[in-house]
Amino acid sequence: MTGKVITRFAPSPTGFLHIGGIRTALFSWLFARRHNGEFLLRIEDTDRERSTEAALNVILEGMEWLGLDHDRDIVYQSQRTEKYEAVIRELLERDLAYYCYCTPEELEAMRKEAMSRGEKPRYNGKYRDLGRRPAEGDTPVVRFKNPLDGDVVIDDLIQGRVVISNRELDDLIIARSDGSPTYNLTVVVDDADMGITHVVRGDDHLNNTPRQINIFNALDHDAPKYAHLPLILDPEGKKLSKRHGAASVLEYREQGYLPEALLNYLVRLGWSHGDQEIFSTGEMTELFDIARANKAAAALNPDKLTWLNQHYLRESKAERIACLLKRKLVELGVDVTGAPDLKEVAGVQKERVKTIVEMADQSRLFYEEFAEYDETAAKKHLRPVALEPLRQVRETLAGLDAWDRESIHAAIDAAAEQQAIKFGKIAQPLRVAVTGGAVSPSIDVTLELLGRDRTLSRLARALELIERRVAAQE
Ligand code: GLU
Repeated sequence: MTGKVITRFAPSPTGFLHIGGIRTALFSWLFARRHNGEFLLRIEDTDRERSTEAALNVILEGMEWLGLDHDRDIVYQSQRTEKYEAVIRELLERDLAYYCYCTPEELEAMRKEAMSRGEKPRYNGKYRDLGRRPAEGDTPVVRFKNPLDGDVVIDDLIQGRVVISNRELDDLIIARSDGSPTYNLTVVVDDADMGITHVVRGDDHLNNTPRQINIFNALDHDAPKYAHLPLILDPEGKKLSKRHGAASVLEYREQGYLPEALLNYLVRLGWSHGDQEIFSTGEMTELFDIARANKAAAALNPDKLTWLNQHYLRESKAERIACLLKRKLVELGVDVTGAPDLKEVAGVQKERVKTIVEMADQSRLFYEEFAEYDETAAKKHLRPVALEPLRQVRETLAGLDAWDRESIHAAIDAAAEQQAIKFGKIAQPLRVAVTGGAVSPSIDVTLELLGRDRTLSRLARALELIERRVAAQE
């Protein structure tokens, strides 16, 4: 690559940044980082009505969460109106643009006429060569004089060569009747001013690209190179919906995913390197090759994301996971100031759960009493046959000198032996008794984390329940 690579991500804060947007940002960021270039952020907030602070925050926070750092200051289009107006004036003065006074009715008639001829609806260039200046009270739009002949050639880094005839393109509006610039104009002005060398974006913009290239040419500026990424589809191969991927990217954080898992997942949506599945961020930046991005749309695969999240949870240090777990538990209103040490809990749970949310769900029992037993588990395991074994194990546990997993394990073993039953016949009722359900880390670890007092009082609670059951049977 000759010259410095400069890419950008240019989201509009009119909706919440979702997984498709973030994948675009990631590929653009990776391309820049891979080539030791710059990655710039531009907020396309010219639509003041539809742009919201909340959507902007999701962009900024989402990118920060994922570590997609940008270079230089953020460019806000809303602060560049004067520049756009100057370019529009320049194009008018150089006769590369003109005022158009068509009424909506005229445009509609034009549209119908073209369609009746079986052609694409397009503006017919009515005012192109009239050179009419607006009189007092006129509110014309400004149209760009698209070249009438020739082709626009896009050597897209992903899609390959795309050729569009200028005959297919009409004179697009670059300023609305209130003078405000339109998307295709602002993008070109900004990409030029920011020195963008490579535009990586969704292929929903592919049809804008020839128009933008023509505007670049009119401004005597080289157009950047383009890489149009295919769409992301839901697991059924349909357009993304709120349930699948179209929700805010921060929801993945809410749901307990780790940023590196999401990044790893996204990089594999439409790009591969052999059959490698796991990529650290460092590896991604080293190996990323945009030319190897798929041309075809990629479908979401939630199981894969979960699998990656599990992988990164296991790989993470307990300290870090403890912080995330703490935040989740506090959000759930759990008081985590008492024992056990969150780091211990996180260290155990990170080996077995899929998300931080699941971890919090399965860890609150270490900090607060559970309201009710899981019905099925209690029915199955807190039965009269478990009465004696549980009494026995409670007594043995109460008499332990040390409260650690080895001693606890030995105590359960001893109780099982005394009762002449298998370890599991005590362990499972014991688990239900102390956790309320049938799923927890191994029983000795569970009890160790729970502490002796909680273990004994919960055993007492379960014994009472079984005693009531026995009494009911008699
Ligand atoms: N603001 C546009 C969008 O959010 C992106 C424009 C571009 O990348 O050129 O779709």
